Amino acid sequence: MDLNIAGRKAIVCASSKGLGKACALALAKEGVDVWISARTSGPLQAAVEEINAAGGGKATAITADVTSDDGRAALFEACPAPDILINNAGGPAPGDFRNWDQKDWFDAINNNMYSAIDMIKRSLDGMIERRFGRIVNITSVAVKVPVTVLGLSNGARAGLTGFVSGIAREPAQHNVTINNLLPGYIATDRMWSVLEAGAKQSDTNLEVFQKNLFGKIGAQRPGEPDEFGATCAFLCSQQAAYITAQNILMDGGLYPGTF
Ligand code: NAP
Repeated sequence: MDLNIAGRKAIVCASSKGLGKACALALAKEGVDVWISARTSGPLQAAVEEINAAGGGKATAITADVTSDDGRAALFEACPAPDILINNAGGPAPGDFRNWDQKDWFDAINNNMYSAIDMIKRSLDGMIERRFGRIVNITSVAVKVPVTVLGLSNGARAGLTGFVSGIAREPAQHNVTINNLLPGYIATDRMWSVLEAGAKQSDTNLEVFQKNLFGKIGAQRPGEPDEFGATCAFLCSQQAAYITAQNILMDGGLYPGTF
């Protein structure tokens, strides 16, 4: 299926590895030029080479911390008029809310809520003027199924979700959409480190811990990053112009509810 976005420009935040890279790769395969970013330049250069070797759109690396004003400014200096914006950043550390102070909360809110809001603010009006825009925020299944030890993530991402719901409808008349994509367990470095920490914490053998966890997923396995990237690319397609203000789960059936 041709997604009709060849020649478009995309900023993909936090994308030298994992979900961000998978989204960048899927967009580039559709002929989209992608500006990818991370704080560490080695893996970022490797990702640029991988994306460019796959053919399609051209990848450009911007070494930048997306949670800082300077980092976000650098992304827009490199790509001033993006047609597509994928918001992403690292997730906060797990813990007990009794141990978190104001700084922990402000950092989490900055990383997983404000940074995405500021990226949207910098790009939305230009997209509206150009009559094309696709914004996808990578959030988490934790928005719908909160995980106790991930309280910083549950809180900050729920805040972003509420904000997005308030602004994502009006731009659709200008062919600009904003949606959230909610990963469950997708096999990235972060997922494996979260699983290792969980097994250690519960004093369980890693294999047994994984088997129990994946057994709760309808698909009985973790998702593949390229499955996640493909869904992201579809949300950025011309054909997806009528999908906005949605929270789309990519969890293989982990979420047990009807809605
Ligand atoms: P990952 O494999 O660890 O990759 C994270 C990527 O983001 C790396 O390229 C990293 O590069 C970059 N990054 C992190 N912080 C950044 C920052 N401040 N500025 C710029 N780049 C930054 O993680 P992932 O699994 O793809 O997860 C991505 C997001 O989805 C996280 O917020 C995570 O909590 C959330 N999530 C993931 C899953 C899952 O199953 N994978 C499930 C639910 C939620 P540098 O470190 O070099 O900057």
